[in-house]
Amino acid sequence: MSRVNRRHFIKSLASGVMGLGAAGRLRAAGGRAGAGQSDAPAPKIAKYKPLGDTGLRVPDVSCGAISLFEPNVLRYAYECGVTYFDTAESYLRMKGEAYVGQALSEVRDKVVITTKHGLNFNQKIDKAALLARVEESLKRLKSDYIDIAMVHGIGDLAPLLANEEVLSAYAQLKKEGKVRFTGFSTHNAKLTLKQALETDFAQVILVMYNHMEGAEIEPLITAVRKRGIGTVAMKIFAGGMQGNLKGMVGPDTSYPQAAIRWVLSNPDVDTCIPTMSSYSHVEEYVAASGRPLDRAALGVIARYRRQVDNLYCRVSCTDCLSACPANVAVNDVLRYGMYFEHYKMEKEAMGYYAEMDPGRKPLDCAECAGPCEGACPHGLEVKSRLMRAHEILTA
Ligand code: SF4
Ligand code: SF4
Repeated sequence: MSRVNRRHFIKSLASGVMGLGAAGRLRAAGGRAGAGQSDAPAPKIAKYKPLGDTGLRVPDVSCGAISLFEPNVLRYAYECGVTYFDTAESYLRMKGEAYVGQALSEVRDKVVITTKHGLNFNQKIDKAALLARVEESLKRLKSDYIDIAMVHGIGDLAPLLANEEVLSAYAQLKKEGKVRFTGFSTHNAKLTLKQALETDFAQVILVMYNHMEGAEIEPLITAVRKRGIGTVAMKIFAGGMQGNLKGMVGPDTSYPQAAIRWVLSNPDVDTCIPTMSSYSHVEEYVAASGRPLDRAALGVIARYRRQVDNLYCRVSCTDCLSACPANVAVNDVLRYGMYFEHYKMEKEAMGYYAEMDPGRKPLDCAECAGPCEGACPHGLEVKSRLMRAHEILTA
Protein backbone atom coordinates (compact mmCIF):
# COMPACT_ATOMS: atom_id res chain seq x y z
CA MET A 1 0.00 0.00 0.00
CA SER A 2 1.29 3.44 -0.81
CA ARG A 3 -0.51 5.10 2.10
CA VAL A 4 -0.98 2.83 5.05
CA ASN A 5 -3.70 3.77 7.46
CA ARG A 6 -6.53 1.79 8.91
CA ARG A 7 -9.24 3.23 6.66
CA HIS A 8 -7.22 2.56 3.49
CA PHE A 9 -6.46 -0.93 4.70
CA ILE A 10 -10.14 -1.72 5.25
CA LYS A 11 -11.04 -0.25 1.85
CA SER A 12 -8.36 -2.34 0.17
CA LEU A 13 -9.77 -5.45 1.77
CA ALA A 14 -13.31 -4.59 0.76
CA SER A 15 -12.25 -4.03 -2.87
CA GLY A 16 -10.33 -7.29 -2.94
CA VAL A 17 -6.92 -5.70 -3.44
CA MET A 18 -5.55 -7.77 -0.60
CA GLY A 19 -7.27 -10.87 -1.91
CA LEU A 20 -8.17 -12.27 1.48
CA GLY A 21 -11.32 -13.90 0.16
CA ALA A 22 -15.00 -13.15 0.54
CA ALA A 23 -15.22 -14.19 4.15
CA GLY A 24 -12.33 -11.96 5.08
CA ARG A 25 -13.77 -9.02 3.15
CA LEU A 26 -17.11 -9.37 4.82
CA ARG A 27 -15.53 -9.49 8.23
CA ALA A 28 -13.33 -6.54 7.38
CA ALA A 29 -16.24 -4.44 6.20
CA GLY A 30 -18.22 -5.05 9.35
CA GLY A 31 -15.29 -5.84 11.55
CA ARG A 32 -14.98 -5.31 15.26
CA ALA A 33 -12.49 -3.39 17.30
CA GLY A 34 -12.80 -0.05 15.57
CA ALA A 35 -12.24 -1.21 12.01
CA GLY A 36 -12.37 1.71 9.59
CA GLN A 37 -12.44 4.33 12.32
CA SER A 38 -8.99 5.78 11.90
CA ASP A 39 -7.55 8.04 9.20
CA ALA A 40 -4.33 8.59 11.07
CA PRO A 41 -1.23 7.18 9.38
CA ALA A 42 -0.55 3.71 10.73
CA PRO A 43 2.65 3.36 12.73
CA LYS A 44 5.43 1.23 11.27
CA ILE A 45 7.91 -1.06 12.93
CA ALA A 46 11.08 0.97 13.49
CA LYS A 47 13.52 -1.78 14.40
CA TYR A 48 14.36 -5.31 13.25
CA LYS A 49 16.80 -7.64 14.99
CA PRO A 50 18.45 -11.01 14.36
CA LEU A 51 16.63 -13.89 16.03
CA GLY A 52 19.50 -15.64 17.75
CA ASP A 53 21.73 -17.38 15.24
CA THR A 54 18.84 -18.57 13.07
CA GLY A 55 19.62 -16.10 10.29
CA LEU A 56 16.07 -14.75 10.58
CA ARG A 57 15.42 -11.06 11.20
CA VAL A 58 12.37 -10.15 13.22
CA PRO A 59 10.70 -6.91 14.36
CA ASP A 60 11.31 -5.87 17.96
CA VAL A 61 7.51 -5.83 18.41
CA SER A 62 5.92 -9.01 17.08
CA CYS A 63 2.42 -10.43 17.18
CA GLY A 64 0.97 -12.92 19.61
CA ALA A 65 -2.18 -14.47 18.16
CA ILE A 66 -3.58 -16.18 21.22
CA SER A 67 -6.86 -14.27 21.20
CA LEU A 68 -8.10 -12.94 17.94
CA PHE A 69 -11.52 -11.81 16.86
CA GLU A 70 -10.73 -10.96 13.26
CA PRO A 71 -8.00 -12.55 11.12
CA ASN A 72 -7.52 -9.38 9.05
CA VAL A 73 -6.01 -7.77 12.13
CA LEU A 74 -2.99 -9.99 11.50
CA ARG A 75 -2.75 -8.79 7.93
CA TYR A 76 -2.97 -5.21 9.15
CA ALA A 77 -0.10 -5.95 11.54
CA TYR A 78 1.89 -7.20 8.55
CA GLU A 79 1.16 -3.97 6.66
CA CYS A 80 2.52 -2.10 9.68
CA GLY A 81 5.79 -4.03 9.40
CA VAL A 82 5.16 -6.91 11.81
CA THR A 83 6.74 -10.03 10.31
CA TYR A 84 6.83 -12.47 13.26
CA PHE A 85 3.63 -14.22 14.31
CA ASP A 86 3.17 -16.62 17.21
CA THR A 87 0.33 -19.11 17.37
CA ALA A 88 -0.31 -22.61 18.73
CA GLU A 89 -2.26 -25.72 17.83
CA SER A 90 -4.50 -25.18 20.85
CA TYR A 91 -5.18 -21.45 20.51
CA LEU A 92 -8.76 -20.32 19.95
CA ARG A 93 -9.95 -23.86 20.44
CA MET A 94 -7.90 -25.21 17.49
CA LYS A 95 -8.79 -22.30 15.18
CA GLY A 96 -5.80 -20.05 15.86
CA GLU A 97 -3.51 -21.55 13.24
CA ALA A 98 -6.25 -21.37 10.61
CA TYR A 99 -6.67 -17.64 11.26
CA VAL A 100 -2.94 -17.15 10.80
CA GLY A 101 -3.03 -19.14 7.56
CA GLN A 102 -6.04 -17.24 6.27
CA ALA A 103 -4.47 -13.86 6.98
CA LEU A 104 -0.89 -14.49 5.90
CA SER A 105 -0.73 -17.22 3.24
CA GLU A 106 -0.31 -14.63 0.47
CA VAL A 107 2.75 -13.19 2.16
CA ARG A 108 4.02 -16.45 3.57
CA ASP A 109 7.61 -16.04 2.37
CA LYS A 110 7.84 -12.63 4.03
CA VAL A 111 6.80 -13.66 7.53
CA VAL A 112 8.14 -15.90 10.27
CA ILE A 113 5.55 -18.19 11.86
CA THR A 114 5.94 -20.01 15.15
CA THR A 115 3.45 -22.61 16.26
CA LYS A 116 3.43 -24.80 19.33
CA HIS A 117 2.26 -28.30 20.26
CA GLY A 118 1.55 -29.36 23.82
CA LEU A 119 2.96 -32.76 24.81
CA ASN A 120 1.94 -34.73 27.86
CA PHE A 121 5.05 -36.56 28.98
CA ASN A 122 3.04 -38.51 31.58
CA GLN A 123 1.53 -40.44 28.72
CA LYS A 124 3.13 -42.41 25.89
CA ILE A 125 3.90 -40.12 22.95
CA ASP A 126 3.85 -41.71 19.56
CA LYS A 127 6.10 -40.33 16.80
CA ALA A 128 3.55 -40.97 14.06
CA ALA A 129 0.84 -39.20 16.03
CA LEU A 130 3.05 -36.14 16.58
CA LEU A 131 3.97 -36.06 12.88
CA ALA A 132 0.26 -36.21 12.01
CA ARG A 133 -0.48 -33.30 14.36
CA VAL A 134 2.20 -31.19 12.69
CA GLU A 135 0.80 -32.08 9.25
CA GLU A 136 -2.61 -30.85 10.41
CA SER A 137 -1.00 -27.63 11.62
CA LEU A 138 0.60 -27.14 8.20
CA LYS A 139 -2.78 -27.54 6.53
CA ARG A 140 -4.37 -24.99 8.85
CA LEU A 141 -1.46 -22.59 8.34
CA LYS A 142 -1.73 -23.07 4.54
CA SER A 143 2.01 -23.56 4.44
CA ASP A 144 4.58 -26.20 3.45
CA TYR A 145 6.73 -25.36 6.43
CA ILE A 146 6.76 -24.00 9.97
CA ASP A 147 9.58 -21.59 10.71
CA ILE A 148 9.75 -22.45 14.39
CA ALA A 149 8.00 -25.44 15.94
CA MET A 150 7.90 -25.27 19.71
CA VAL A 151 6.92 -27.68 22.43
CA HIS A 152 4.21 -25.74 24.25
CA GLY A 153 4.39 -24.74 27.90
CA ILE A 154 7.13 -27.02 29.14
CA GLY A 155 8.24 -26.84 32.77
CA ASP A 156 11.14 -29.30 32.60
CA LEU A 157 13.12 -30.28 29.51
CA ALA A 158 14.35 -33.59 30.96
CA PRO A 159 11.41 -35.75 29.80
CA LEU A 160 11.52 -34.13 26.37
CA LEU A 161 15.24 -34.76 25.94
CA ALA A 162 14.78 -38.37 27.05
CA ASN A 163 11.94 -39.06 24.63
CA GLU A 164 13.25 -40.64 21.44
CA GLU A 165 9.85 -40.54 19.72
CA VAL A 166 9.60 -36.77 20.09
CA LEU A 167 13.23 -36.05 19.21
CA SER A 168 13.02 -38.34 16.19
CA ALA A 169 9.78 -36.70 15.01
CA TYR A 170 11.27 -33.19 15.10
CA ALA A 171 14.52 -34.41 13.48
CA GLN A 172 12.50 -35.94 10.65
CA LEU A 173 10.41 -32.79 10.20
CA LYS A 174 13.58 -30.71 9.95
CA LYS A 175 15.14 -33.13 7.46
CA GLU A 176 12.02 -32.96 5.29
CA GLY A 177 12.05 -29.14 5.39
CA LYS A 178 8.70 -29.01 7.18
CA VAL A 179 10.21 -27.39 10.27
CA ARG A 180 13.14 -24.99 10.09
CA PHE A 181 13.91 -24.52 13.79
CA THR A 182 12.75 -26.04 17.07
CA GLY A 183 12.30 -24.66 20.55
CA PHE A 184 9.93 -24.44 23.48
CA SER A 185 7.78 -22.06 25.45
CA THR A 186 8.01 -22.03 29.21
CA HIS A 187 6.72 -20.52 32.43
CA ASN A 188 9.54 -22.13 34.37
CA ALA A 189 12.53 -20.34 32.91
CA LYS A 190 14.64 -20.75 36.04
CA LEU A 191 15.02 -24.45 35.20
CA THR A 192 14.37 -24.74 31.48
CA LEU A 193 16.74 -22.00 30.33
CA LYS A 194 19.56 -23.66 32.26
CA GLN A 195 18.67 -26.93 30.54
CA ALA A 196 18.53 -25.21 27.15
CA LEU A 197 22.21 -24.37 27.54
CA GLU A 198 23.03 -28.08 27.63
CA THR A 199 21.18 -29.22 24.51
CA ASP A 200 20.90 -28.36 20.83
CA PHE A 201 17.13 -28.91 20.77
CA ALA A 202 16.17 -25.24 21.13
CA GLN A 203 17.19 -22.65 18.56
CA VAL A 204 14.47 -20.29 19.78
CA ILE A 205 12.75 -20.00 23.17
CA LEU A 206 9.59 -18.23 24.21
CA VAL A 207 9.84 -17.11 27.80
CA MET A 208 7.70 -15.17 30.23
CA TYR A 209 9.47 -11.88 30.98
CA ASN A 210 8.12 -8.61 32.33
CA HIS A 211 8.94 -5.76 34.68
CA MET A 212 7.38 -7.47 37.71
CA GLU A 213 9.07 -10.84 37.57
CA GLY A 214 11.90 -10.68 35.08
CA ALA A 215 14.94 -9.76 37.12
CA GLU A 216 15.87 -13.19 38.37
CA ILE A 217 15.95 -14.81 34.93
CA GLU A 218 17.92 -12.03 33.22
CA PRO A 219 21.32 -13.76 33.61
CA LEU A 220 19.82 -16.87 32.00
CA ILE A 221 18.34 -14.89 29.11
CA THR A 222 21.79 -13.39 28.56
CA ALA A 223 23.40 -16.84 28.68
CA VAL A 224 21.05 -18.47 26.17
CA ARG A 225 21.32 -15.49 23.84
CA LYS A 226 25.12 -15.72 24.00
CA ARG A 227 24.78 -19.34 22.95
CA GLY A 228 22.95 -18.19 19.82
CA ILE A 229 19.42 -19.10 20.91
CA GLY A 230 16.73 -16.67 19.79
CA THR A 231 14.85 -15.07 22.69
CA VAL A 232 11.17 -14.15 22.47
CA ALA A 233 9.35 -12.58 25.43
CA MET A 234 5.71 -13.25 26.34
CA LYS A 235 3.35 -12.14 29.13
CA ILE A 236 5.08 -8.81 28.93
CA PHE A 237 2.18 -6.80 30.40
CA ALA A 238 2.51 -8.38 33.87
CA GLY A 239 -1.13 -9.34 34.06
CA GLY A 240 -2.50 -6.61 31.80
CA MET A 241 -4.53 -5.26 34.70
CA GLN A 242 -4.46 -1.64 33.60
CA GLY A 243 -8.03 -1.98 32.35
CA ASN A 244 -9.27 -1.96 35.91
CA LEU A 245 -7.06 0.86 37.04
CA LYS A 246 -7.31 4.57 36.61
CA GLY A 247 -4.60 6.79 35.19
CA MET A 248 -2.63 4.17 33.33
CA VAL A 249 -2.27 6.25 30.20
CA GLY A 250 0.61 8.68 30.44
CA PRO A 251 0.88 11.79 28.28
CA ASP A 252 3.49 10.18 26.01
CA THR A 253 3.12 6.50 26.56
CA SER A 254 0.33 4.12 27.45
CA TYR A 255 0.96 1.40 30.01
CA PRO A 256 1.27 -1.35 27.34
CA GLN A 257 3.76 0.77 25.40
CA ALA A 258 5.78 1.38 28.54
CA ALA A 259 5.78 -2.34 29.33
CA ILE A 260 6.93 -3.18 25.78
CA ARG A 261 9.72 -0.61 26.01
CA TRP A 262 10.82 -2.04 29.36
CA VAL A 263 11.12 -5.55 27.90
CA LEU A 264 12.96 -4.32 24.81
CA SER A 265 15.40 -2.31 26.89
CA ASN A 266 17.07 -5.68 27.56
CA PRO A 267 19.40 -6.11 24.55
CA ASP A 268 19.29 -9.89 24.96
CA VAL A 269 15.59 -10.00 24.13
CA ASP A 270 15.20 -10.35 20.37
CA THR A 271 11.48 -9.69 20.17
CA CYS A 272 8.27 -9.73 22.20
CA ILE A 273 4.77 -10.94 21.33
CA PRO A 274 2.01 -8.79 22.79
CA THR A 275 -1.36 -10.21 21.80
CA MET A 276 -2.76 -8.20 18.90
CA SER A 277 -6.47 -8.96 18.82
CA SER A 278 -7.71 -5.64 17.40
CA TYR A 279 -6.64 -2.91 14.98
CA SER A 280 -6.14 -0.61 17.96
CA HIS A 281 -3.78 -3.09 19.60
CA VAL A 282 -1.70 -3.24 16.42
CA GLU A 283 -1.39 0.53 16.27
CA GLU A 284 -0.70 0.98 19.96
CA TYR A 285 1.94 -1.74 20.21
CA VAL A 286 3.70 -1.10 16.90
CA ALA A 287 4.08 2.55 17.93
CA ALA A 288 6.36 1.36 20.76
CA SER A 289 8.85 -0.15 18.28
CA GLY A 290 12.34 1.32 18.44
CA ARG A 291 11.50 3.67 21.30
CA PRO A 292 13.97 3.58 24.19
CA LEU A 293 12.80 3.36 27.75
CA ASP A 294 12.65 6.85 29.20
CA ARG A 295 11.67 8.48 32.45
CA ALA A 296 8.02 8.92 31.44
CA ALA A 297 7.68 5.22 30.58
CA LEU A 298 9.38 4.22 33.82
CA GLY A 299 6.95 6.46 35.69
CA VAL A 300 3.96 4.68 34.15
CA ILE A 301 5.48 1.32 35.05
CA ALA A 302 6.13 2.44 38.63
CA ARG A 303 2.47 3.49 38.99
CA TYR A 304 1.27 0.19 37.60
CA ARG A 305 3.51 -1.74 39.97
CA ARG A 306 2.27 0.19 42.98
CA GLN A 307 -1.33 -0.43 42.04
CA VAL A 308 -1.18 -4.15 41.26
CA ASP A 309 1.62 -5.32 43.55
CA ASN A 310 -0.72 -7.24 45.89
CA LEU A 311 -3.14 -8.19 43.10
CA TYR A 312 -0.87 -9.80 40.53
CA CYS A 313 0.04 -13.46 41.04
CA ARG A 314 3.49 -13.84 39.50
CA VAL A 315 3.16 -16.50 36.83
CA SER A 316 6.57 -18.02 37.52
CA CYS A 317 6.14 -17.95 41.33
CA THR A 318 5.59 -21.07 43.40
CA ASP A 319 6.31 -19.66 46.86
CA CYS A 320 2.96 -20.53 48.44
CA LEU A 321 2.52 -23.99 46.95
CA SER A 322 4.26 -25.92 49.73
CA ALA A 323 2.06 -24.20 52.35
CA CYS A 324 -1.13 -25.70 50.93
CA PRO A 325 -2.22 -28.97 52.56
CA ALA A 326 -4.53 -29.68 49.62
CA ASN A 327 -1.86 -29.39 46.90
CA VAL A 328 -3.75 -26.65 45.06
CA ALA A 329 -1.94 -25.35 41.95
CA VAL A 330 -2.39 -21.75 43.11
CA ASN A 331 -0.33 -20.11 40.37
CA ASP A 332 -2.04 -22.01 37.54
CA VAL A 333 -5.56 -21.37 38.87
CA LEU A 334 -4.87 -17.65 39.29
CA ARG A 335 -3.26 -17.53 35.82
CA TYR A 336 -6.40 -18.97 34.25
CA GLY A 337 -8.42 -16.47 36.27
CA MET A 338 -6.21 -13.73 34.81
CA TYR A 339 -6.83 -15.02 31.28
CA PHE A 340 -10.56 -14.84 31.98
CA GLU A 341 -10.75 -11.46 33.70
CA HIS A 342 -7.96 -9.39 32.21
CA TYR A 343 -7.15 -11.00 28.87
CA LYS A 344 -10.89 -11.41 28.16
CA MET A 345 -10.26 -14.97 26.95
CA GLU A 346 -13.21 -16.36 28.83
CA LYS A 347 -13.87 -19.52 26.84
CA GLU A 348 -10.21 -20.47 26.48
CA ALA A 349 -9.62 -19.91 30.20
CA MET A 350 -12.58 -22.10 31.10
CA GLY A 351 -11.29 -24.75 28.72
CA TYR A 352 -7.82 -24.75 30.29
CA TYR A 353 -9.37 -24.95 33.75
CA ALA A 354 -11.65 -27.80 32.78
CA GLU A 355 -8.60 -29.78 31.66
CA MET A 356 -6.79 -29.29 34.97
CA ASP A 357 -6.28 -32.20 37.33
CA PRO A 358 -9.26 -31.91 39.74
CA GLY A 359 -6.88 -32.74 42.59
CA ARG A 360 -5.07 -29.43 42.01
CA LYS A 361 -8.23 -27.27 42.02
CA PRO A 362 -9.26 -25.05 44.97
CA LEU A 363 -12.28 -27.12 45.95
CA ASP A 364 -11.77 -27.09 49.74
CA CYS A 365 -10.57 -23.53 50.29
CA ALA A 366 -13.81 -22.43 52.01
CA GLU A 367 -13.09 -24.76 54.95
CA CYS A 368 -9.37 -23.93 55.12
CA ALA A 369 -7.64 -21.35 57.35
CA GLY A 370 -5.60 -20.28 54.33
CA PRO A 371 -1.93 -20.73 55.20
CA CYS A 372 -1.18 -19.93 51.55
CA GLU A 373 -1.82 -16.25 52.29
CA GLY A 374 0.88 -16.04 54.91
CA ALA A 375 3.28 -17.70 52.48
CA CYS A 376 2.72 -15.17 49.70
CA PRO A 377 5.51 -12.60 49.84
CA HIS A 378 3.43 -10.21 47.77
CA GLY A 379 0.44 -10.02 50.10
CA LEU A 380 -2.17 -11.48 47.78
CA GLU A 381 -5.53 -12.43 49.26
CA VAL A 382 -4.91 -15.87 47.88
CA LYS A 383 -7.87 -17.76 49.32
CA SER A 384 -10.59 -15.38 48.17
CA ARG A 385 -8.87 -14.93 44.81
CA LEU A 386 -8.81 -18.70 44.29
CA MET A 387 -12.45 -19.09 45.21
CA ARG A 388 -13.43 -16.32 42.83
CA ALA A 389 -11.28 -17.80 40.05
CA HIS A 390 -12.97 -21.18 40.52
CA GLU A 391 -16.40 -19.54 40.43
CA ILE A 392 -15.87 -17.61 37.19
CA LEU A 393 -14.03 -20.45 35.48
CA THR A 394 -16.85 -22.87 36.11
CA ALA A 395 -19.85 -20.56 35.68
S1 SF4 B 1 -7.04 -21.73 51.14
FE1 SF4 B 1 -7.00 -23.23 49.49
S2 SF4 B 1 -5.07 -22.90 48.45
FE2 SF4 B 1 -4.93 -21.85 50.40
S3 SF4 B 1 -3.93 -23.34 51.73
FE3 SF4 B 1 -6.13 -23.61 51.99
S4 SF4 B 1 -6.71 -25.22 50.50
FE4 SF4 B 1 -4.66 -24.47 49.94
S1 SF4 C 1 -0.24 -16.31 45.32
FE1 SF4 C 1 1.67 -15.22 45.83
S2 SF4 C 1 3.09 -16.82 46.54
FE2 SF4 C 1 1.39 -17.85 45.48
S3 SF4 C 1 2.11 -18.13 43.40
FE3 SF4 C 1 0.95 -16.19 43.44
S4 SF4 C 1 2.46 -14.58 43.83
FE4 SF4 C 1 3.43 -16.55 44.34
